[in-house]
Amino acid sequence: MEIRQVGVIGAGQMGGGIAQVCAQAGLAVRLCDIDPAQQARAMAQMRRSLDKLAAGQAGQAGLEPDAVLARVATVSGPGALAGCELVVEAASEQLALKLRLLGEAAAAVGPDAIIASNTSSISLTRLAAAVPSPQRVIGMHFMNPVPLMPLVEIIRAEQTDDATHRAIEALTTRLGKTPVTVGDAPGFVSNRVLMPMINEAAFCVHDGVADPAAVDAVMTLGMRHPLGPLALADLIGLDTCVAILDVLYSEFRDSKYRVCPLLARYVAAGRLGRKSGRGFYDYTDRS
Ligand code: NAD
Repeated sequence: MEIRQVGVIGAGQMGGGIAQVCAQAGLAVRLCDIDPAQQARAMAQMRRSLDKLAAGQAGQAGLEPDAVLARVATVSGPGALAGCELVVEAASEQLALKLRLLGEAAAAVGPDAIIASNTSSISLTRLAAAVPSPQRVIGMHFMNPVPLMPLVEIIRAEQTDDATHRAIEALTTRLGKTPVTVGDAPGFVSNRVLMPMINEAAFCVHDGVADPAAVDAVMTLGMRHPLGPLALADLIGLDTCVAILDVLYSEFRDSKYRVCPLLARYVAAGRLGRKSGRGFYDYTDRS
């Protein structure tokens, strides 16, 4: 089945970016979110990103921001995704929410459509069990910011069939990204490796070893990381980091994944990182 129409659930940082790269590849996109303000923000962010890409040094050959944006429609919820050959779920990192949204999406699109989740850590096998055609469920883990990052980590659920896997690898390539398939284990590869580093960086601040700028400087100047772990945590969203660490901790039952209390405290205070204006750093004066 050829993929022409894609439904994206969740218009946050990731959903907006996924909608953008799908539209850039010529696909029609329906973007839904429970919060209309998020949809408006996503459309505005897409416009900024596309204008930047079109005007960039190398320019992107043939990129027409107006034409790309015209391919993205905002809709009210998963029920409005009938006719989509693919749904990519990119709502908040909560198991119960994802189970419900995948069930609603599956009911709207029918048994032949592929249902992908952009989850950062949750078992695809568990998510697949929530839909009537679990062989059509797969993990499509895009990286942030989606328009710029070349990797999509592909996760096969226990139930995923070969045709679904092949179709999603082909689509990923069509989006200009590189698919890397990994097993269905908590945090997959990306966040199993990344999150303990971010958590340990937070512990350095919590324990008074160094302030955030010093921690990040050690890792950028000393380890050649393009972004320090705490700046990266702010980009990802501290709520998402805590949700991922909670999955790692509860699934592996290993204390090395216990969330740093400072991270948990920031999230409780609404300091979620860039998306809320403040995390380890203050973004209120930055556009
Ligand atoms: P976000 O907080 O920016 O956006 C989440 C969106 O989900 C919000 O717009 C929210 O309104 C929406 N939402 C919540 N309940 C909903 C519902 N019932 N129906 C529709 N939409 C609903 O989060 P994000 O950073 O975009 O993360 C989304 C997903 O992508 C998560 O699973 C996360 O783990 C994963 N992810 C995040 C990153 C990252 O760097 N932030 C990277 C890869 C994957």
